[in-house]
Amino acid sequence: MAEQSLSVFKTTSYQEKPFDHELSFGRTFTDHMFLMDYSEESGWHDARITPYQPLQIDPAAMVFHYAQSVFEGLKAYRSPEGDPLLFRPKQNLARLNQSNDRLCIPQVDEDFLLEALKQLIHIEQDWIPHTEGMSLYIRPTIISTQSFLGVAPSTNYKLIIILSPVGAYYKEGINPVKIAVENEYVRAVRGGTGEAKTGGNYAASLKAQETAGKDGYAQVLWLDGVEKRYIEEVGSMNVFFKIGNEVVTPRLNGSILNGITRDSAMQLLRHWGYDVVERDITIDELYDHYQQGDVKEAFGSGTAAAISPIGQLDWGENKMVFNNGETGYLARNLYDTLMGIQYGQQYDPFNWVVNVNQPVQSHVS
Ligand SMILES: *Cc1c(COP(=O)(O)O)cnc(C)c1O
Repeated sequence: MAEQSLSVFKTTSYQEKPFDHELSFGRTFTDHMFLMDYSEESGWHDARITPYQPLQIDPAAMVFHYAQSVFEGLKAYRSPEGDPLLFRPKQNLARLNQSNDRLCIPQVDEDFLLEALKQLIHIEQDWIPHTEGMSLYIRPTIISTQSFLGVAPSTNYKLIIILSPVGAYYKEGINPVKIAVENEYVRAVRGGTGEAKTGGNYAASLKAQETAGKDGYAQVLWLDGVEKRYIEEVGSMNVFFKIGNEVVTPRLNGSILNGITRDSAMQLLRHWGYDVVERDITIDELYDHYQQGDVKEAFGSGTAAAISPIGQLDWGENKMVFNNGETGYLARNLYDTLMGIQYGQQYDPFNWVVNVNQPVQSHVS
């Protein structure tokens, strides 16, 4: 890939920043954004940081019609010294390229993009909330911009990174949620786009989410799209169960998103001496274990909440309550440890954290 340079155009009208207590999720955006364009002639080019502003896009742009797009989600956290920290950002950029591959979007230069992201965060670091548990959510997305109604990979793309200061996921502390097993709708199928981070997967998930929400559930537990037996994910998170002395999480089977929090949780659990097993697990098997009294804990993992304990899981008439509906030992420890590492308050045994104000370390993972 050709050497790229990054231009910076600063805004002349800075916004008044909201107070931390006013922040929810994804409604406030910072003063600047990152943009980069792709064309067949020039490849990825014109990388720039500009004032945050609307895009002007042709209504015939392919993204509006056939959804050829991908995205990522990560956060910048403020360390006790005030430095902006990123958590395993190289993993997000590697996954962006895996999603690109599935959606026929050209590969991006991960090293260049990491440097550009660091520069953007450096410029916007005053937007990272100071309050414990709050952070600056980072949303990279790539959209297809060729004006053409034919069904084919686009010849033009735009990569955008926007930033949004977000409140604490758990306002009153980590809290177990009630989940419904989804028996009708599916999120993804093997061979489909389930393991790519693409907006279409989310569009496909809304109906189930809406129905479950009306019935008082926080999220649904997704089963596989073919047999509707194998457990895949919970809402937009990966899922773990402590069964007996093992921690079980569904194997990456092609329709499950390869979560970075999932990988981090597995590494921490193994570091602590737990047996972590990635394997197929059906809802019937889980219920059998539950009836034997062997399911000690259930929780989801993802960037937004880090760890989300599942207090109750309803599978039709069969109701499963884990750990008396309270946050379990593993969920609590994973949550505390991930937060501790992400906020630079705790020893980082795996070198996961990248300090934006320091040069890149070559061994970050
Ligand atoms: C992003 C996402 C996750 C979680 O991934 P993290 O890298 O841990 O944030 C899980 N499932 C789906 C469907 C996702 O889109």
